[in-house]
Amino acid sequence: MSGAARLLQDVFGFDDFRPGQGEIVEAVADGENVLAIMPTGGGKSLCFQLPALMRDGVTVVISPLIALMRDQVRALQEAGVSAGALTSGNTPEETDAVFEALEAGRLKLLYMAPERLAAGAAVGLLRRAGVSLIAVDEAHCVSQWGHDFRPDYLRIGALRRDLNVPLAAFTATADAETQAEIVEKLFDGVAPRAFLRGFDRPNIHLAFAAKDGPRRQILDFAAARKGQSGIVYCGTRAKTESLAAALREAGHTTLHYHGGMEAEDRRIAETRFQREDGLIVVATVAFGMGVDKPDIRWVAHADLPKSIEAYYQEIGRAGRDGAPAETLTLFGPEDIRLRRSQIDEGLASPERRAADHGRLNALLGLAEALKCRRRTLLQYFDETDVSCGNCDLCDRPADVFDGTTAVRKALSAILRTDEWFGAGHLIDILTGNETDKVRQRGHQTLPTYGVGTEYDRRQWQAIFRQMMGHDLVRPDPERHGALRMTDAALPLLRDETSIELRRDSIRAAASTRRPAVKAMVSEEDAPLLSALKAKRRAFAEAAKAPAYVIFNDRTLIEMAETRPQSLDDMARIGGVGAKKLERYGAAFLEVIVGEAQQMHPTRRKLAGREAGTVYDRLLAVQADLTRGADGVEKPLSCSASLLAKVAQMRNADPSALERLLGDRRAERFGPAFLDVLREAS
Ligand code: ADP
Ligand code: ZN
Repeated sequence: MSGAARLLQDVFGFDDFRPGQGEIVEAVADGENVLAIMPTGGGKSLCFQLPALMRDGVTVVISPLIALMRDQVRALQEAGVSAGALTSGNTPEETDAVFEALEAGRLKLLYMAPERLAAGAAVGLLRRAGVSLIAVDEAHCVSQWGHDFRPDYLRIGALRRDLNVPLAAFTATADAETQAEIVEKLFDGVAPRAFLRGFDRPNIHLAFAAKDGPRRQILDFAAARKGQSGIVYCGTRAKTESLAAALREAGHTTLHYHGGMEAEDRRIAETRFQREDGLIVVATVAFGMGVDKPDIRWVAHADLPKSIEAYYQEIGRAGRDGAPAETLTLFGPEDIRLRRSQIDEGLASPERRAADHGRLNALLGLAEALKCRRRTLLQYFDETDVSCGNCDLCDRPADVFDGTTAVRKALSAILRTDEWFGAGHLIDILTGNETDKVRQRGHQTLPTYGVGTEYDRRQWQAIFRQMMGHDLVRPDPERHGALRMTDAALPLLRDETSIELRRDSIRAAASTRRPAVKAMVSEEDAPLLSALKAKRRAFAEAAKAPAYVIFNDRTLIEMAETRPQSLDDMARIGGVGAKKLERYGAAFLEVIVGEAQQMHPTRRKLAGREAGTVYDRLLAVQADLTRGADGVEKPLSCSASLLAKVAQMRNADPSALERLLGDRRAERFGPAFLDVLREAS
């Protein structure tokens, strides 16, 4: 085993590198200058933490966010690595401890806020400390054109020159201009070795839905994920507050967050979200940079994001630990109108506006996609080699129909009314709905009047929305949002091409059923997972640290599913390094073994099998009927071994069950047991 692989296992408890990590670690450890672009959650921190342990001297890590630095330092210390941070958030004792460790030559990683570099003493301090590597997290903060610009990042280039040590820069922002700026500002224009990792986030489930009672849609989505940490993004500040209130009413622990709040309140919200398990934050996009929580299990958009890049970044906050995460993005015609007018009314140059419309179009194309969302999304980032099976359209193919004639009728209604009307009036014309407005304008005499009766109002709304999504028509802000045809629609009008549309409005009506609660593990492992989480919470609270610093969700899921029975087994779980094994192994093992011991031995024999789950249901059903359906009869029950036999019955029918149970028990439990068995088969 190579040194890197051993450290990976011993210190971090991981068996394998994530894609790309291995090469980056090697290059950084070899002292090359490196620029690594990896998607959020790709595991960037490991790419400088591991080399730091492999190299002599101290690695200084520049990172923009104090809270995140503190958490990373905590996590490293938990893993037994000597790490410290110098930030304005330190207590004097913490700062003293860092200096002491530096002087004693014990410190391996020193985290620093960029502001520190402004202080003259910093360079001298770092030189004396024997810094041998600079790692720059969120390197795009050096870009003056990006919205995360940090002026102090511009000092990093000089620091590299002064110390004359290699530098490794990391970011998730991939566009070419930002990359060029990073090379210019951090590496004095000399191109470093660059690593570009793909943009796929396979553990994130992608889904879109047309708005259809959006508040209820969000509440349903959250209800099915109760107790899991999530973010709901909203288009307006007011909505974050009202939706947060609705979620709270539905029994979720929920906070709102937006740029109009006091800095202190925002900080409190960020910290609570970071620390607590199972909190929902309803936020505007202002909630972003400060969020570095690896175990966000879901992200929902109550309103359409502004571009495909924004969408990717926002959903990308989910599932950074690699465990399954889910997303839902809602959209409707009013979103499209809003986003278009924001672009049109902005102060950007005409070229910039055209580009912004293009980025919005890409997102709308994704929203109205008929095939795999992931493929559509990644195509935009020029990735073509994509496998999925983890999006709503892979789960259930879109129900499509040839919409060419419908679209042509709609376009004709638009053109014959000189592009002066919105969808509502146009639908009145198409469906032959003689309103006052129709009569006033004499539109009942148009040749298109009443030619669209094959669809009802809702269906026409879906057609118009999709026409906007395909950018065949655009709302014109100068005409109060009246729909105007774009050049993209010409081939359809000329009969040169055809178009497929989704039949979503019909489906929407049918899907109002409450979704079942989604669990992160199978029903059988769920109680153990909650017990493990409770144990983790206890440790986290005692240490005043976020839960994932103890173990992340993925690690707990693996424990719940594989049920290690000894510390040796425990050591093989991903995320359990030597230090953590020593510190927490026994406590978590006790939870697992204890759970198993509570099980009846007969039941334990069925563990991990379908029959085990059936056994549990039979037991529950039996408990309800112990004293008969009305609760007044003589108590009666079946022995564990009898229940186990029932649970393992094949082709159960009333007479077979009666033979097994005997008359009295068959009478009391037979029908209910049969239901359980039928449901299971
Ligand atoms: P980012 O690239 O967004 O900075 P992080 O460095 O925070 O990502 O890593 C995200 C998550 O992935 C963390 O929870 C980390 O523990 C986990 N992780 C990193 N590398 C590995 C690996 N090789 N195997 C398993 N999990 C890993
Ligand atoms: Zn897919």
